[in-house]
Amino acid sequence: MPAPSDLKARATAAIEANRDEILALSRAIHADPEPAFEEHRAAARVAAAIAGHGYGVEHPVGRLATAVRGRLTGGLGPDGPRIGVLAEYDALPGLGHGCGHNTMAASGVGAAIALAAVRDSFAGEVVFLGTPAEERGSGKQFMLDDGLFEGFDAALLFHPADRDMVNCMLLASEDVDVTFVGKAAHAALEPWEGRNALDAVVLLFQAVGLWRQQMPQHARVHGIILEGGSAANIIPDRATARFMIRSTDQAYFESMRERFRALVDGAAMMADVRGELVFSGGSTTMKNSLTLAGLWRANMEAKGLADEGVDPEHVGSSDMGNVSLALPTIHPSLAICDPGVTWHSIESRDAAATPRAETTTLVAASLVAETALDLLTDPSLVTAAWREFRGGE
Ligand SMILES: [Zn+2]
Ligand SMILES: [Zn+2]
Repeated sequence: MPAPSDLKARATAAIEANRDEILALSRAIHADPEPAFEEHRAAARVAAAIAGHGYGVEHPVGRLATAVRGRLTGGLGPDGPRIGVLAEYDALPGLGHGCGHNTMAASGVGAAIALAAVRDSFAGEVVFLGTPAEERGSGKQFMLDDGLFEGFDAALLFHPADRDMVNCMLLASEDVDVTFVGKAAHAALEPWEGRNALDAVVLLFQAVGLWRQQMPQHARVHGIILEGGSAANIIPDRATARFMIRSTDQAYFESMRERFRALVDGAAMMADVRGELVFSGGSTTMKNSLTLAGLWRANMEAKGLADEGVDPEHVGSSDMGNVSLALPTIHPSLAICDPGVTWHSIESRDAAATPRAETTTLVAASLVAETALDLLTDPSLVTAAWREFRGGE
């Protein structure tokens, strides 16, 4: 049985009563963007906010300096579901909050505030996790490895978008840092003494461009040059690039890693330099919990919102995929702007600080809290989610 509607109404009223604090947090984080692993001020703001509403806060927690954990035990005792309310707050280098993670931080905090306000109505535990480094590095995988999702029965996290969708489709993704090392020489006086590391980067980009011709629709590879030399009259002895490889097909994704490694080796051989690559920060495809998704959808519909469904033409990546392979997880989206706004752009960055985004942030907080209450007040729903997760249905 879903949680009673009057309980959900009390939770939503708590969000309304604290709307100024919740929206001030969203604005402050939007105005002060910090990239992955460096979200020090955002994490401190989030930690202070939930500490002010009765959560026992650890910051940092685990190995990541910008991770936050807040725990709140239900007033009916600790024995019950353990529900994870997540929040992201990293920004994009050079762009700011073009992914709107400020709204995710604020909605997660808003949901935590709402659940604290009705804690007397449930047994179990709400664990708020501030999760750094989604845009690069897959911070949630470190937090999984650090045991911070231990005992969780569900993980809930909203993402802003240009549409309302409950289920989430994700590309498996990994960052690859490539370094080519050659030999410096005067570019005019004795260029034959040099080994040009930048040549290998240029060759690698050409190889990737040709590789794309044979790539299926579900695969992506894209990169930037980080270092390409220091002066035009020096043969570059060092050049570095960062790529991401992605696919919605986990098995194909594994084959892409090997192919990319071969391209790096080939480029190094052609330029007569040494090539090295380091894979890091992998995220996986998404396993949607249909049990949790059903609860979220019902709560959405009660607010007059409709699920527009997954758009397979526009698919990104997230370390929520990694969480979804460990426990029942949903990562639903809600619109903060009209359809068609390009993501990771100035338009999406500006959209994340509009009155419409703020309205959506409060709605998202309410939906996370209501879905958490469904689970906290009826542990049979948790049992159903685990049965589905383990393939028992
Ligand atoms: Zn994002
Ligand atoms: Zn993003």
